[in-house]
Amino acid sequence: MERYLCDVLVTMDGPAGDVPVPIPDGMVDVGDDGRIVWCGPAADAPEAGADVTTHTTGILMPSLINAHCHTPMVLLRGAGEGLPVDRWLHEVMWPRESKLTPGDVRAGMLLGAAEMLANGIGASVEMYFAGQAMAEAAEQAGMRCLVTPGVIEDPDFTLTGPWPDQIDEMVALRDRWAASDLIDVGMAAHAAYSVSRECLTAIAERAADAGMPVHIHLAEQQWEDAAVRERSGGLAAPEYLESLGLFDGDAIAAHGVWLTPDDIEVLARTDTAVVHCPCSNAKHASGVAPVTEMQTAGLRLAIGTDGPASHHRLDLFEEMRTAIRTARIRSGDAQTFGPAEALRMTTAGAAEVIGRADELGRLAPGCWADMMALSPSEPALHPVVASEDDLLSRIVWSGSPGAISAVWVAGRKVVDHGRVLTLDVAEAIDEAQTRARRLAE
Ligand SMILES: [Zn+2]
Repeated sequence: MERYLCDVLVTMDGPAGDVPVPIPDGMVDVGDDGRIVWCGPAADAPEAGADVTTHTTGILMPSLINAHCHTPMVLLRGAGEGLPVDRWLHEVMWPRESKLTPGDVRAGMLLGAAEMLANGIGASVEMYFAGQAMAEAAEQAGMRCLVTPGVIEDPDFTLTGPWPDQIDEMVALRDRWAASDLIDVGMAAHAAYSVSRECLTAIAERAADAGMPVHIHLAEQQWEDAAVRERSGGLAAPEYLESLGLFDGDAIAAHGVWLTPDDIEVLARTDTAVVHCPCSNAKHASGVAPVTEMQTAGLRLAIGTDGPASHHRLDLFEEMRTAIRTARIRSGDAQTFGPAEALRMTTAGAAEVIGRADELGRLAPGCWADMMALSPSEPALHPVVASEDDLLSRIVWSGSPGAISAVWVAGRKVVDHGRVLTLDVAEAIDEAQTRARRLAE
């Protein structure tokens, strides 16, 4: 058993709306199976047995969950800069992605996983092609991943075969990885405007049969509404997807920028989770998602970086801050949407979004030991005036990947003082470099 003594323990345990109280001089015990055995104030901890190895850390907290990403797009990072999303997809992304091999996807996922782990992200939700390559790379990196291979139907996108075959492959992939502790598999459709009614219906039916979550982009750009209404006989995207059964099971909708109160009502009554991607939405000038309205409606909410081609960085500290800033610009109220809410959306709230609330996103007995430690000597986290300290604010406003001293996934240490322990990062950069150049030709 491993025992972690820390200056402050942030468990993120507790229901939405509660602000978790940090525990000074905390302790976490992790069993050999990678799960937390005990967690709380060190003074209350059980006696250490002979087999216990003790470690000391600064601020110990759950590692972060990136709830919407297309990580292998690191190979396309920087391409199509400045284009609006529709031109960026049709003129740059989809033509290049049509040249991708499984080896490219694997190389992109490995480099992106190294970046995410170093940034304190222990789990991601991925919508991308070549699901087997994605899963293998995530497993190699020692990272937790919900892989959701996605269907796109567009003349500019020619990588994948017919969608019925793709749906069969998603179910087969889920079965292949069923025994893995790190890899889960769901289904994805790119969006209501880019996938046919027949395909969306088939995905809804197969996902329900197989008990797999469905991941989809929703209302990212203002122009999508007219395109969806033309296909749907006049329905807005949420009502259309509900009518096709896509929200019957576990559904994860990314972006949710252009949602009306009626749309939010549809998401609330179908218990559809939304992943807020504030940096991507800002970079593409997509708009500012109504995050506080979605909170008020009781939606399960998380935060995602989106793909590294949409928004260069895979850094949830930056996302949390951008989420707060944009929500406050939208409301004109500095009390809107605080750091504790943003931090919940990258930890316990994100675990609820992916249906893993019982074992991820919190530090509590029975949960996986997916944790990170922030260094007590990080300058940006100081000074601390005890009488007025708000630790969660300090973590969100002043924290950064540079403050991270260690990251663990399922109890296994994967990052030590910025160094990723699970793979050769220099080799991953070289590999990605060669492949990115070929795709750009
Ligand atoms: Zn996306």
